[in-house]
Amino acid sequence: MSYTEDRSVWFAGQGLWSHVPEADWQDWTWQLKNRLTSIEHLERYMTLTPEERAGCLFAKDKLALAITPYFFNLIDRTDPHCPIRKQVIPRSDESVISSGEMLDSLGEDEHSPVPGLVHRYPDRVLFLVTDRCAAYCRYCTRSRLVSNAQDYNFHPEYEQALRYIEAHPEIRDVLLSGGDPLLLSDKKLEHLLGRLRAIKHVEFIRIGSRIPVFLPQRITPELAEIFKKHGPIWMSIHVNHPKEATQELKDACERLAFAGVPLGNQSVLLKGVNDDAEVMKALVHRLLRMRVRPYYIYQMDLITGGAHFKADVRKGIEIIRALRGHTTGYAVPQYVIDAPGGGGKVPVNPDYVEQITDDEVVFRNFEGKQFRYPLKAEPVTEKSAGVVMPAEIHL
Ligand code: SF4
Repeated sequence: MSYTEDRSVWFAGQGLWSHVPEADWQDWTWQLKNRLTSIEHLERYMTLTPEERAGCLFAKDKLALAITPYFFNLIDRTDPHCPIRKQVIPRSDESVISSGEMLDSLGEDEHSPVPGLVHRYPDRVLFLVTDRCAAYCRYCTRSRLVSNAQDYNFHPEYEQALRYIEAHPEIRDVLLSGGDPLLLSDKKLEHLLGRLRAIKHVEFIRIGSRIPVFLPQRITPELAEIFKKHGPIWMSIHVNHPKEATQELKDACERLAFAGVPLGNQSVLLKGVNDDAEVMKALVHRLLRMRVRPYYIYQMDLITGGAHFKADVRKGIEIIRALRGHTTGYAVPQYVIDAPGGGGKVPVNPDYVEQITDDEVVFRNFEGKQFRYPLKAEPVTEKSAGVVMPAEIHL
């Protein structure tokens, strides 16, 4: 895949919905009400491939189909290989279960002391505050519980989870996720953040959200004020491809950044979407321009029906090698595999170090040149070290 981009262009506009009053278009509740959720909706605007048609029919039994009009505009409707299209339009491949795949690939359910809360690491919890998203990613790790497609026993009643956090002083870090926490109303979000802030031992609150990407209209000045009031709130957004880096997303990120929200990005490495060094380089450069620090690239989790998205790990390593040293250090994310079954994130890096002995480290730099770093500090004569000592030192 070769990728070129016009660095000066940030997509903006209403596209297929240019007839809609701008006030409606900018209203996040309008975007939600007008999501494309069925074959009939999609076929009003595009021709689906047979694989996509079959996938849409199957979707209702697995992970729902939903795409906001804003995000649908980013799809190239003439290209079945469009990287945006692949992320949100179901394909029949989703019905193929391959070896090693699991419904709960990160083993979250067995570490869930109360509904909607995962407590695997001693000092932090994952708080799943809703099971809904603005749109549904076809590779979603939590497809078992979002969109209610499988009647999963999870509900957005979070009082029990709050009480659990209050009762566990070892919890210093709470990650709000879901589903998408930013789908909660301002009132609910404000209440939730206020309650968490009132717990003395909770030092750190973060939010994982794809709303800025699917529904940037949701990042209203009022919402930004809530984050300002209860901050610092850290946020990980989820952008996979430079085409998602629109003017609207940039504006939303600025509203968050100006409200004091530090922003990071998590991408999932997806075959045929972003498993390409040029695509990733364009993405990380766009992210920095939006005040977002590229944080993680995830190897895709082993979710059921996800094999068609599974990229080669060697591609991921090649991407990191193409970034490290070749661009700004801030632009280089950490490539990780979330260990299947719940072993946590493990970095997967190119090998720069060739050898470590008691005497030295031998390594190669980003250009492949070999260097040695001595570990022993042997005294040497001033002459051999090229140091000229003054005959007398006056204090
Ligand atoms: S936004 Fe997140 S939780 Fe929702 S479908 Fe996408 S990956 Fe899954």
